[in-house]
Amino acid sequence: MPAMKELVKGTDRYRHYINGEWVDSTVKEWIDVENPATQAIIASVPRGGEDDADRALVAARAAQPAWEALPPATRGQLLKDLARLILENRERLARIVVAEQGKPIQEARGEIEGAALYLTYAAEEARRITGDIIPSDMPDEQIWIQRVAHGVVIALTAWNYPAALMCRKMGPALLAGNTIVIKSHEGTPISALEIAQLSSQLDFPPGVINVVSGTGEGIGAALVRHPIPRLITLTGSVRAGKEIFRAAADDLKLLRLELGGKAPFVVAEDADIGAAVRAAVLSRFENCGQICICNERMYVHRRVAEEFLDKFTRAVKALKVGDPTTMVDVGPKFSGMELDKVERMVDAARAAGAEVLTGGRRLTDGEFARGHWYEPTVMTVADNQMRIMQEEVFGPVVPVMTVGDFDEGLRLANESNYGLSAYVFTKDMRRVMRLVRELKFGEIYVNRPGGDAVHAYHAGIRDSGIGGEDGKYGLDAYFQKKTVYVNYA
Ligand code: NAD
Repeated sequence: MPAMKELVKGTDRYRHYINGEWVDSTVKEWIDVENPATQAIIASVPRGGEDDADRALVAARAAQPAWEALPPATRGQLLKDLARLILENRERLARIVVAEQGKPIQEARGEIEGAALYLTYAAEEARRITGDIIPSDMPDEQIWIQRVAHGVVIALTAWNYPAALMCRKMGPALLAGNTIVIKSHEGTPISALEIAQLSSQLDFPPGVINVVSGTGEGIGAALVRHPIPRLITLTGSVRAGKEIFRAAADDLKLLRLELGGKAPFVVAEDADIGAAVRAAVLSRFENCGQICICNERMYVHRRVAEEFLDKFTRAVKALKVGDPTTMVDVGPKFSGMELDKVERMVDAARAAGAEVLTGGRRLTDGEFARGHWYEPTVMTVADNQMRIMQEEVFGPVVPVMTVGDFDEGLRLANESNYGLSAYVFTKDMRRVMRLVRELKFGEIYVNRPGGDAVHAYHAGIRDSGIGGEDGKYGLDAYFQKKTVYVNYA
C-alpha cells in the first residue's frame, strides 16, 4: 500500500487519504505549501479533482451504515483514542501548524490541545444521545422522536486553525454516526493529513474518515455539487459561504456556514481600563489577528479615550514580532495575498483620514526580508462607514473610534453586515443585561478577552453565517430527527 507521502526533489509530496488508504490523485498536479515566515516550500499536496471527490464520497457512503450501527460509546472511544494520539504527537503537530500557518509555537501547542479537546468533548456525549417520548392523541399509541445520522458530511475548513477546525467538525460528525470527507484550505493542508495518518493507526473502519486536498473552486466545489453528501459544514469566508449556499440549493443540502466576523469592542467610561487594554491586545493580535472572533474595531468612550489609547498603543508597541518557532507574540501573515490585502486596507484608511498611532507598514528588513510581515498597527478613525470599520481585516491592525456615550457605542457596533462576536467593557450590570437583546452578535464577551468554550455555542448571525458549532447545539446539528408513531392496539 502506498505511504502517506514520498520525497520528491527534496520535499514531501502527500497523497489523499481515502477509504483507509493513501491514494494518488487522478489529476497529476500538486499544490506547493509555503511556510509564511520564510517562504520556503515545505511540502506539496494533490490538487484534487472531480474523480477524487467522487472516490472519497463513495467510500464514505459505503462505510456509513455500519459506522452508525456501532454503539455510540464505541465511536466515542475511537475519538478518545485519536485525541490521545494527537496529544502524544502534540509537539510534532504544533510544529507542522507553525510551518504551514505561521502562528507562534505556544499558540500552535494550544491549537493542538484544542483539537484533542474537540474530539474528547464529542466522545463524552456518546451516552447522552437522547430523544423524546411523547404521548399520542390516539389510544394505544406512542410517539417517539429519535436522533439519527444524516449520512455523509463534507467538512471544508479555513487556514487559520487547520488542526482545530478539522477536529471541531470531525468529532461531533463521527460521534453522531456520520462519515466524513474533509478538505482543508489549500494553503494549510498538512495538519489534516497528518491527523488522518494518526487515525489510520486506530480501528476506524475504512471510509469513515477521508481527507482530500485541493482548491475550493476545484475539489471543494466538486464535493459540494456531488449528490452523496447530505450536510456541508464550512468554516471560511462569506464569499465561499454564499457560493456554497447557491451550489447546494438544487439538492437542498443542509448547510452549516461559520463565516467571517468584524467584532466591535466597546469600552464604556466605567470600564477597568487596564483589563480592557489587556483584552483588546490579546483579542486583536493573537494569531496575527487572524481569528474570526478577533477585536476588529473599537468604540471607546471619550472620557477614557486618552488614557485608553495611551496604554493600548504602548502595549501594542511592546509586542514582539518575529520567528514563530520562538517565543514571540506575533508571527507573519499567512500569505502574500493576505498581506497585500491588509496593506491596501491600511493605506486606504490613511488616505481617508485615519491617523496611525503605531505601525502602519510592512516589515521587510533584516529577519523580515523573507516572509509576510506586518507591524502591529493602531489607528484612530472618525467615520464608521470607512472600509476599515466595515470589512474584515483579519490581520494585526485595529481602528479606534471615540464615542460620546455607551448607546452610541452600541449603535455603531450594530452598524455592520457581520454578526459573529462582540466585546463590551463596563461595570454597569444594567448595561450588561441590555446587551443580550440589543447587540446583534452571536457571541458576546463581557469584561474579558475572546476565546470560546468547547461546551458553549459558537454561532454567527447575519453575514457571519448560518449554523453554529460546539456544545449540545453544535452536536445536535449533526443529527436528523425521525418521528415514529407506534400503534400497539
Ligand atoms: P475560504 O472561504 O477561502 O476557504 C475556506 C474553505 O472553503 C477552504 O477549504 C476552501 O478551499 C473552501 N472553499 C472556498 N470556496 C469554495 C467553494 N466555492 N466551494 C467549495 N469549497 C470552497 O476562507 P479562508 O480564507 O480559508 O478563511 C478565512 C475566513 O474564515 C475569514 O473570513 C474568517 O473570519 C473565517 N473563519 C470563520 C470562523 C468561524 O467559526 N465563524 C473560524 C475561522 C475562520
